Amino acid sequence: MDVQAWVKQVIRPNEIDRFLVNGKDFINEEQIVGELTAASVPAPGRVRDILKKSLEIQLLSTEETAVLLNVTDPTLLEEMRETALEVKKRVYDNRIVFFAPIYCSNLCVNSCVYCGFRCENRAEKRHILSAEEIRREAEAVIDEGHKRVIAVYGEHPRSDADYMADSLGHLYAAKRTTPGGNGFNNIRRVNVNAAPMCIADLKKLWRAGIGTYQVFQETYHRETYAKLHPAGTIKGNYRWRLYAMHRAMEAGIDDVAIGALFGLYDWQFEVMGLVSHAHDLERQFGIGPHTISFPRMQPAPGSFISENSPYLVADDAFKRLVTVLRLAVPYTGLIVTARERSGLRREIIGYGCTQTDASTKIGIGAYAGKKKQEENADKVQFMLGDQRSLDEVVRELASDGYITSFCTAGYRCGRTGDKIMSLLEKGVEGKFCKLNAVLTFREYLNDYASPETRLAGERLIEQELQEIEQTPFFTDKKLLPTFMSYYRRIAAGERDLYM
Ligand code: SAM
Ligand code: SF4
Repeated sequence: MDVQAWVKQVIRPNEIDRFLVNGKDFINEEQIVGELTAASVPAPGRVRDILKKSLEIQLLSTEETAVLLNVTDPTLLEEMRETALEVKKRVYDNRIVFFAPIYCSNLCVNSCVYCGFRCENRAEKRHILSAEEIRREAEAVIDEGHKRVIAVYGEHPRSDADYMADSLGHLYAAKRTTPGGNGFNNIRRVNVNAAPMCIADLKKLWRAGIGTYQVFQETYHRETYAKLHPAGTIKGNYRWRLYAMHRAMEAGIDDVAIGALFGLYDWQFEVMGLVSHAHDLERQFGIGPHTISFPRMQPAPGSFISENSPYLVADDAFKRLVTVLRLAVPYTGLIVTARERSGLRREIIGYGCTQTDASTKIGIGAYAGKKKQEENADKVQFMLGDQRSLDEVVRELASDGYITSFCTAGYRCGRTGDKIMSLLEKGVEGKFCKLNAVLTFREYLNDYASPETRLAGERLIEQELQEIEQTPFFTDKKLLPTFMSYYRRIAAGERDLYM
């Protein structure tokens, strides 16, 4: 099938219409603007009542979210930040999960004006990784110590669902001996960031073992969406994208990840869009998003808007939006990426983020080629703010009291979707995650950490072990002996033991 014929058959209108209510989608712009305007002078008492609701790990309404979005008083903002961190501690404790993105292809039929991969960008050198190249990328990432990746694809018939399913197989198959020679390391969870698909294609990814499926709406504001995504392209269809996660749920993928590209339109509107999205997923499927991302637009090759948009989000507003998201959707993971500069990323993690990436390379084939982004500028989508190694970021976070987790057990034990959400809300999943974080951190410290990182990590792991030994949940449920035996076996060289 030629490219144009393929493009024409991607969108299935009946896989949009079935989710509409009376022909309407869940983004009610009039209501969003009305709620933001009505809350323009938030009363401190009302703000504090809303914070109490967040602490009970309940999804906030859009009306409540609008109140928090309007807070500018420094004292209240500080209370919000402290509450956000407390919410994160209750649900996720002091864990931070690491992953690496692997860009498999920059072929793309769309022309999003902010993206270096847009088909009109003739300066971009196009490449799609072969099976062998995917294996090499996986090995390079494994050699850094990673166990979790997100595979990223442009939208093109050559990188269709069959190609993605095959690439998942290649990523899962890669296995490496650890540097000390006494263990092995492999990728234990592959998430996917790819264009919206039909249900039949999503089922292929589910069968191939996809972890989380991630699609960013870019902007929830229809008029802006239409300006940035040319009509007649697949991406130009706002609702096909808006219901990508609904189709994923129908296909059996119950860990779904949403996001907005901040900088395209008003940031407060986008937060309201994300919260509306979480509500509609809960309403239709009983499960909210597994994670929310809030990428800020970065300079992209040849894209004027990526550097000159009137809506670029300043650092202060960025901190406010992350705080509000943490409070509004308390059980959901929040991802801050290496798009951000190191100092800001470190600070933002303290606002309640749960996942981040490190040693990131976003050029096609850049891990195996050991290329810095400056050497690969014709194969990247945008420029990163933080290119530090995993070892450096793990060390920094350990010194801030965060334990790195490479845990992928929840997914492999069937703790996904509604099961994981209810466990997170009750604080139970967090307890298992704590044990698995310590086990995977032990593996990392033994296998990959530099002497300085190991020093910082050993201190932290010692504190964690003491805490675990004193926590009634672990002693009462008789989890402690199994955990301690796994811990000792891992320290002695066994790998991939989890609770
Ligand atoms: N092609 C697929 C799509 O558009 O859904 C998925 C991959 S795309 C490579 C991943 C994400 O990168 C996009 O959803 C967008 O939010 C983000 N992105 C695009 N241009 C960006 C830029 N200039 N700065 C930061 N993020 C950008
Ligand atoms: Fe293609 Fe995605 Fe970039 Fe748009 S954001 S041009 S769809 S790769």
